[in-house]
Amino acid sequence: MTLSNFEIVSDVTKEYFCVDERPWVVGYSGGKDSSLVIKILLTSLSGLNHPKEVNIFYCDTGVEIPVLRDHIIESLKLIQAEGLSLGINIKTTCIKPPLKDHYFVKVIGRGYPTPTNKFRWCTDKLRINPVQQAIKEIVGEEETIVVLGTRYNESNERDKILKRNETDNKYFFKQTGHKNTILFSPIRDFSTDDVWESLLTKNNITSINASYIADIYRQISGECPIIRLPDSTPCSKGRFGCWTCTVVRQDKATSNLIKNGFRSLEPLLEFRSWILSIRDDTNHRCTVRRNGVRGLGPFRLKSREIILNKLLETEKKSGFTLISEEEIETIYKLWEEDKASPKYQEDPAIFI
Ligand code: SF4
Repeated sequence: MTLSNFEIVSDVTKEYFCVDERPWVVGYSGGKDSSLVIKILLTSLSGLNHPKEVNIFYCDTGVEIPVLRDHIIESLKLIQAEGLSLGINIKTTCIKPPLKDHYFVKVIGRGYPTPTNKFRWCTDKLRINPVQQAIKEIVGEEETIVVLGTRYNESNERDKILKRNETDNKYFFKQTGHKNTILFSPIRDFSTDDVWESLLTKNNITSINASYIADIYRQISGECPIIRLPDSTPCSKGRFGCWTCTVVRQDKATSNLIKNGFRSLEPLLEFRSWILSIRDDTNHRCTVRRNGVRGLGPFRLKSREIILNKLLETEKKSGFTLISEEEIETIYKLWEEDKASPKYQEDPAIFI
């Protein structure tokens, strides 16, 4: 009998998991590839009763598309329960970036312009650093295996990076800048069709709801990574990510979700389009940067207040909690700091 790709990599995963004591950490985004990796992991470690802990991290940036976030948080609980019932020493954790790095603290508090391809300050702060920090807190400086759903044949750029970081073992990759992290990608040779086939036909693991994921992917594609591949640009498309993402000109993910019935997301899409429309407007942006150089600087204080009010309106209209009290308090403090700082400069705006 020929083994399927899924069975082959499940055997490989079991073998490498048991071979030594190095801790295993899994980056889970809720997307199809990381969901498949979880499925492989639970399948391969099932019944082993191995004492080694498997830590699964999901990073909640605070600006995840609410309906997707809720689904992922729910699936984290299911994954942990199913893993434990299969005899796996598993722990799922939803991690968050530090308050000072929250999206709205940066944009409304400090006046950061919303991210674009040229000024993409968000991915490291919101996704990659919190995961690296969580890994460090759990395993310290120990060499760690980080399991990822990275694959060849996704793009030429991705292939080049993977090639450059190959090791003697085809499933393991180096991570530049992180000597103690080894990336393990069991699905490195899976095509997109292989991923869907394994996700949808292997029904042994119930905590991964493959048909829900397939439904979402019919509407959305692309996801913002939570572990940086060595040397790669941090975010590929930024669509299965933050609802506030302005790295892409059009938010197809939210638009398509709305078209498919998620009408409560409409106010979020409107807010995102509006904030994008004022991003480069000198009526809303200081004309001196924080370093004193002339050029588009932070959002003006008045504009930050306008943005906050607009966000609170959006919250009311949509029914979703979009900003916390703690964030609002921090934002007020940052406004006071700017008001008191002799270095903070605002030319008069023309319209506001
Ligand atoms: S989804 Fe967009 S806004 Fe969010 S971290 Fe990625 S690039 Fe930044």
